[in-house]
Amino acid sequence: MPFLQDIIDGIIDMFFPEYCVFCGKHLLPDEHFLCIDCNLDLATVTFSDFQDNTITRLFWGRLPLQYAFAFMHFVPRSPSQAILHELKYKHNKEIGFYYGQVMALSMKDKGFPADFDLVLPVPLHPKKQYYRGYNQAELLATGIAEIFDKPMETRVARRIRYNPTQTHKSMTERWQNVQNLFQVTRPSRIEGKHILIVDDVITTGSTIESLATELLKIPGVKISLALLAMAQEI
Ligand SMILES: [Zn+2]
Repeated sequence: MPFLQDIIDGIIDMFFPEYCVFCGKHLLPDEHFLCIDCNLDLATVTFSDFQDNTITRLFWGRLPLQYAFAFMHFVPRSPSQAILHELKYKHNKEIGFYYGQVMALSMKDKGFPADFDLVLPVPLHPKKQYYRGYNQAELLATGIAEIFDKPMETRVARRIRYNPTQTHKSMTERWQNVQNLFQVTRPSRIEGKHILIVDDVITTGSTIESLATELLKIPGVKISLALLAMAQEI
């Protein structure tokens, strides 16, 4: 009964009004997290070649990749920054799950090959996850796993070192800093598997390189990537 649903939506909205995370405008029932104008302003990534693109080129000579997808460009003071800010610092877990689904629908729409076996969010250090209360990459991965109907694995690898801020380090220091960040804890679960690594934002790619390098030590493992956002400097 659509009419009754409208009334229920109206009542819910009266008590829990929702606002655009970027401009603050009151959202209509069919708008989610962004109003229609901000959604139109969202700098989505346009490439649909998943083997040769900005992300795969970033890893040339560093990592063998099957496919890579990114949903949007990170643009300061824009709707994309607002989404990431909500996801990482404002404890907005729903936005993570929602944009995981949006990413997956976009991947399907653009013909991203669905031949991966499992979805693996980049693990946070347990201490960091404890303080934040959740792993934002895991929220995205949950949405992707659901849309593609694939299992999500969160316990096959763990982060063993706290990674301090990289900002003031040289390239060599950064590389040394991300060496041995991760440990594969259940190699038997990923042997021979094609793994889709999911993360919220990619800048230098060094964290993903560190994780994937460990995963690729397990026989038969193949790696693809799905990122919510890519930094402008890539
Ligand atoms: Zn807006």
